[in-house]
Amino acid sequence: MNDLVDQADCRQALDHLYEYLDGELTPLVEAAIKAHLAVCAPCFALFGFEQAYLRFLEARARTQGAPPALRRRILDQLLGGGAAERP
Ligand SMILES: [Zn+2]
Repeated sequence: MNDLVDQADCRQALDHLYEYLDGELTPLVEAAIKAHLAVCAPCFALFGFEQAYLRFLEARARTQGAPPALRRRILDQLLGGGAAERP
């Protein structure tokens, strides 16, 4: 046996990609994936890309979660069923 990357490891890594990014893997599987990423440049690049993309989506969802009109309507309801005054 040698330490060369084989396709089965790539398959396994990709199968667990999103669980890995969500931190839902068991420590053993996560360690195996990390070990694979350390020796497999294509998987490392792909995981890095997916992680950056997920963070981008999360950040965008936080800042643009609701359209301004909807946000204002919710705010108006919270402030007392349309009785809210605007400056
Ligand atoms: Zn790989």
